[in-house]
Amino acid sequence: MKTIGLIGGMSWESSLEYYRIINEKVKEELGGHHSAELILYSVDFEEIQVLQHKNKWDDLTKIMVNTAKVLEKAGAGLMVICTNTMHKMADDVQKNIAVPLIHIADATAQSIQQRELKRVGLLGTKFTMEQDFYKGRLSEKFDIDVVIPDEKDREIIHEIIYSDLCLNKVEESSKKEFLRVIDKLLDNGAEGVILGCTEIPLLINQKDVPVPVFDTTAIHAEKAAIEAL
Ligand code: GLU
Repeated sequence: MKTIGLIGGMSWESSLEYYRIINEKVKEELGGHHSAELILYSVDFEEIQVLQHKNKWDDLTKIMVNTAKVLEKAGAGLMVICTNTMHKMADDVQKNIAVPLIHIADATAQSIQQRELKRVGLLGTKFTMEQDFYKGRLSEKFDIDVVIPDEKDREIIHEIIYSDLCLNKVEESSKKEFLRVIDKLLDNGAEGVILGCTEIPLLINQKDVPVPVFDTTAIHAEKAAIEAL
């Protein structure tokens, strides 16, 4: 079994889910008392989110690359960035380490292709919904058509992620807003919905939505466990 290097803490609420899901998957595959070999480097999310909102992506890239190098030196045989947003610098991280990085958008795209869907809605931070590092990868590399909410709704989703979900506040009113936005994505032809922020599954799950949802936390964590084995 390879040791998984987790770059986590963005937020720690979702890193907990990674830890649980990876271990559950390893146990499911190997049985007995088997559990995952992993190293978690959990960053201080306050520092990260301040830099994100100041658009200091070069500083953030340095932090991610350094963290990945520390994990590699400590023995990680594969690398996982436990957030969609911070895949903005996935290519830089990969260039600076020798071990493979499991890309969250690739794992999600493979799952979408297995369901044979062509057009999906994307919910996440404004960075993930608006910039090209995520939806561009889905369309260029996997030919998946991505629909995003309108500007006002992107603002609302972003705000709920940072002000509530990343602080472990799960409110019924937030869920209503998410479901309203999801309905609009379906009206725009989405055949499925990507929960493209690793905290969204704390709020929304498959039972809430009439089309397939793609829980990026679970998809990514399970893929990491399988690759490690
Ligand atoms: N965990 C979130 C994501 O998957 C947002 C936090 C972050 O900015 O990294 O995008």
